[in-house]
Order: sequence, then structure tokens, then C-alpha cells
Amino acid sequence: MNNKPTIAVIGAGLGGAAAGALLQKAGYPTKVYEQAPAFTRLGAGIHLGPNVMKVMRRIGIEEKLNAMGSHPDYWFSRNGMTGEYQSRIPLGEFARENYGAAYITVHRGDLHELMVSTLDQDNLYFDKRLVDVDDSGGKVVMTFADGSTEEADLVIGADGVNSRLREKLLGPEAPIYSGWVAHRAIISAEKLKAYDLDFEACVKWWSEDRHMMVYFVTGDEKEYYYVTGVPEPDWNHGTSFVDSSREEMRKAFEGYHPTVQALIDCTETVTKWPLLERNPLPLWHENRLVLLGDACHPMKPHMAQGAAMAIEDAAMLVRCLEEVGAADYQNAFELYRTNRFERASRVQQVSHDNTWLREDEDPAWVFAYDPFEVPLKQPTSQ
Ligand code: FAD
Repeated sequence: MNNKPTIAVIGAGLGGAAAGALLQKAGYPTKVYEQAPAFTRLGAGIHLGPNVMKVMRRIGIEEKLNAMGSHPDYWFSRNGMTGEYQSRIPLGEFARENYGAAYITVHRGDLHELMVSTLDQDNLYFDKRLVDVDDSGGKVVMTFADGSTEEADLVIGADGVNSRLREKLLGPEAPIYSGWVAHRAIISAEKLKAYDLDFEACVKWWSEDRHMMVYFVTGDEKEYYYVTGVPEPDWNHGTSFVDSSREEMRKAFEGYHPTVQALIDCTETVTKWPLLERNPLPLWHENRLVLLGDACHPMKPHMAQGAAMAIEDAAMLVRCLEEVGAADYQNAFELYRTNRFERASRVQQVSHDNTWLREDEDPAWVFAYDPFEVPLKQPTSQ
């Protein structure tokens, strides 16, 4: 007989999937509710730093990811116009030795599919959009868009930047449009063979107000990917992304290095996404409800650490529930917040400033972190 509380995770994104997998591994009866009817392999890549790979080790998928991903030896920063190197950050073997795990880049869809496969499939519910929660009784009652209701002892809001749970805790408030968009495109590496240029495994091309980050998303280096940051004063599309075009890319990166021009020439499909943020939230949990990931600290993606923070949150939350004992969930949630707020807020700020690895710097404070091993700070009594 399991005396652990029942837990509902709202959202099966990267943070929710990590939370669900770790909770189920720790023996919590956990159900995961996702609004989407299914997931598709959208054209996007993602970096997984050693800090995330240590969580993947606990989930049991580190080796699969190592086989799936590209392993860059360096993160290069280069001047977008001249190609001059501004930084060379060692990854590869150096990362494994000094930060305790590999640094990889992968296809976001492949990563997500693998993470979702680690969940107990009998307790994963698609097409379940949470519309309301009632946290006034001994259990939380959740109401979904299809009219159904479910109960759980504790509810984790891993429901992204427009979180319904966050709204429940803090009231309605749209996220802040940062004034920057990201273009995303996957390019067949086959096409790049026509050019007498070097396409590096992980490189960010910079100029004053914009950049293009480029890397492989598969271990066989057949798919190359770019993601940009480009200023655009308004976002009035009302959708999470729109189609962009080669012409728009040419205009945005006029005068950039021939390697960047080659990438644009080889672009078949490119999408454009608004970059959204929030200021650090004054409240991460209340009674039986707690937030993680983009639900509480959405950020510009310029450190490639947004999902990493969601996944670290999930690990720390489970650690704190185990440490304090889930019966004392309010203290467990406060221990979690205490040990995540400063780091997540700092990463939000550096991402906002877009300075990360632009020049040579020591990235150990991000990459060497291990949410399972870092000494816990105790909350100050209020
Ligand atoms: P999400 O991934 O948004 O997941 C939320 C889930 O909740 C979704 O599946 C959604 O359908 C579901 N949901 C929402 N509302 C409800 C509801 N009411 N009921 C039920 N389900 C609901 N991060 C990195 O670490 N590395 C990178 O390289 C990187 N690159 C990025 C590039 C771009 C252009 C962008 C925009 C972001 C990037 N990020 C990166 C950031 C990363 O994508 C996010 O920080 C991360 O996805 C947050 O995870 P999450 O689980 O908190 O939220």
C-alpha cells in the first residue's frame, strides 16, 4: 500500500515530463494531463547541458540521448560580419571531465518523444486542458475543458508560459513580449555539401542587436539547425508562431558572413516565434499547488537554458518532497522555491541581456550544477 500523496502534473512539456518521470520513479502515484491531442516533431533543436544530462541520468535516458545527439567540442561565438572568433568555450571531453556529463544538441521532438516515453503510459492523458482548480478542500479538484473532473492531493503546474495554474495563484496577466523574435529552421546537411565552407557543430554568429545560433540536431549530423534572435517591435499575430521566409531572413541578416548566407540559401521552411518573458514571480506555490518551468520563469532562450531550468526545477521539487516528506508539502514546496528562485532568476536575467558566452567566460556555475547534489539552503522564517 502506497502512503505517498497522489500528484497531478499539468502539462507534458519538457518540465512536466521530467517531473512525472521522476515522481513515478520515486513511487508517487502521479498522473500527467496534457492539453494537446498528440505531439508532433516541430522543426526545432535544443541544447542539453551537463546540468540537464545529470537529470536525464536519473530518469534513465542519458545513454540514449548521448547516442541520439551531436557532441560539439566547442561553443564558438563569432562576429556575424567578419567571422572573427569572440569565444571558444570547451565542451566535449572537457565538459564530461569538469561538469560531470556531456553537452549535447538534439532535435527537440526526438528529445520530447523520448522523455514522454519514460512516463507510465496508463497515467498519461492527452486532450486534457485544465480550465479550473478548486484547492479549498482536502484534495484539489481539477476541471478540464471536456467537462470532466479529477482529484489529486498535490498539483504541479508545468503548463508553460500561459499557465492556468499561475493565473490561479496570481491572477490573469499576459507574459511580456520581449521585442525579439526567433526564426527556426532545420536544414539538410546534404545541401550544405555544395559549399566550400566550414559548418561548425555549435556556433553563434553575433552582431550588435541580433544573432544566429547554429548546431546539428542529430548525432549523424544529417540535420543542421538555426535559431535566431532578431528585434521586431510588435507581435500581433495572436498565435504561438507564424511562417517566415528566405527573403525575410536575407533582409534580417544582410551583410552577414558567407556561411550564414549559405544557411539562408538552403532554408526550405522557416518559422518565427515571439520571445516571451515574465519578471520573477512573487509566489511559486500556495497550499497544494506549485509551479515549475515556464509557468513561473519564462525567459528569452539566449542561454539555451529555459527547458534546462524547467527540468532542474522538476528534479529539485522531487528532491525536496523526499527530503521533507510529502505529508509536509507546504514546507517541501518552500524548500524547493528557496533552492530554485535565485538560480532561475539569474538565468532569466542573463538570457534577457543576451551576453552568455559572447566572450570567453567560465560557464561552470551553469553546467556543473547538479540539482540532486547541490547543498540545500534552508528557507528563512517569515
Ligand atoms: P512547455 O514546454 O511550454 O510545456 C508546457 C506544456 O503544458 C505544453 O505541452 C502545453 O501544451 C501544456 N499545457 C499548457 N496549458 C495547459 C493546460 N491548461 N492544461 C493541460 N496542459 C497544458 N531551452 C533550453 O533548455 N535549451 C534550448 O536550446 C532552448 N531553445 C529555445 C529556443 C526557442 C526559440 C524558444 C522559444 C525556447 C527555447 N528554450 C530552450 C526554452 C524552452 O523551450 C522552454 O523553456 C521549455 O519548453 C519550458 O518547458 P515547460 O515544460 O516549462 O513548458
